[in-house]
Amino acid sequence: MKVCKFGGTSMATVASIRQVQSIIESDPMRKFIIVSAPGKRFSEDTKITDMLYAAYAEKLENGSCRYKIAEIRTRFVELAKELGLSVDMNKYIDEVEKGINESTTADYAASRGEYLSAVIMSEVLGFKMLDAADVIKFKADGTFDSELTNDLVSKYAKESGGIVVPGFYGRMPDKTIKTFTRGGSDFTGAIIARGVGATVYENWTDVNGFMVTDPRLVNNPKHIEVLSYEELRELSYMGASVLHPDSIFPVQIDKIPINIRNTFNPEMPGTLILDNTDGYKIPKVTGIAGRKGNTTISLKKAMMNAEIGFCRKVLSVLERHGMSVEHVPTGIDTMSIVLSDAGLKGVDENKIVDDIRGAVNPDHIEITHSLALIAVVGHGMANSRGVAATLFTALYKAGVNVRMIDQGSSELNIIVGVEEKDYNASIKAIYNAFFD
Ligand code: ASP
Repeated sequence: MKVCKFGGTSMATVASIRQVQSIIESDPMRKFIIVSAPGKRFSEDTKITDMLYAAYAEKLENGSCRYKIAEIRTRFVELAKELGLSVDMNKYIDEVEKGINESTTADYAASRGEYLSAVIMSEVLGFKMLDAADVIKFKADGTFDSELTNDLVSKYAKESGGIVVPGFYGRMPDKTIKTFTRGGSDFTGAIIARGVGATVYENWTDVNGFMVTDPRLVNNPKHIEVLSYEELRELSYMGASVLHPDSIFPVQIDKIPINIRNTFNPEMPGTLILDNTDGYKIPKVTGIAGRKGNTTISLKKAMMNAEIGFCRKVLSVLERHGMSVEHVPTGIDTMSIVLSDAGLKGVDENKIVDDIRGAVNPDHIEITHSLALIAVVGHGMANSRGVAATLFTALYKAGVNVRMIDQGSSELNIIVGVEEKDYNASIKAIYNAFFD
């Protein structure tokens, strides 16, 4: 049986919901349906989830979410009316309004888009609705309770009819609602797929799947047909944003394939994400992703290599400052630490530098900003020669100065650091070298 998750664009309009309905009804295996909150109907539109966060902000400021909830009410009431449903959406919205006015965190508010979306979808399909709060559980410390959740979800595996589950949230032991991070309905879909033992987890979105690289930087890049879980992790971490990066964790336990599909182009096979891509014809490089906004702290100290515990002392300083480290390229007498600017927000970097000075007394230490990281990812590179040569020749010919190089020991990726001003040219040059 198939578990299918439909994203916000698929749930946004009457036409898209009808399209979702026809996809589900065309295959009786599609029995478990996970939905996002309605997304944007046109580019300047606002996603329901963002409207709900705004409703919570309104209640914090004015004691009630009256104005924002009125806008949300209009969207859901109109949607239900145009779909010809008899369900009383006003009654549901009244309940949500009361809940937001009484709640003490934004999570309850944010989760209601998925909840109301599931009410609508179960009416459209004539499927039962299963509230995610009843099966998706968190521990008291706020972490996801995967085993309890799996037990609860697995009870529904043998249900004869179809079931709709709202994405994005679950329940804490104290009964309050908690959401996953943004885009978390993808994760809900993966949890349900594992729990009910799906043959495939279909993730229906508004693109044909993953592309080799960012289409904003390279015109019409090639489509990725098949990808491994590991490759997906690398690419999503570096910025490819088709699927929530945590989505593979539940499904990889039972090696359930994920199939990214396009609701608006259902004939396309999409991208298949598997535990292992052996037996598939895979290129040397599967994907190229990257992100700007990184900072490097570079240290130099004579005889650093002989000083036992040097790296540990430096990294302990970062740990004390609560910093997560991206990369640590080292030389005999040099060590660099690459940090993301997002993680550095609100942190005093001069204080970090002072503390490192105090810990290891380097001969030289400096901070450089504006580093872009680019990951060239693919299992195919482990068995082929010349990948690094092709990559660095392409960057050299494009006139790009490479500031950092890091290759994981599994030969799944090569990461290069370039100046942000060279980022776009680098991506283009690397893509052309491998795919043109
Ligand atoms: N609606 C939520 C968001 O906008 C979750 C999701 O769509 O996956 O992030």
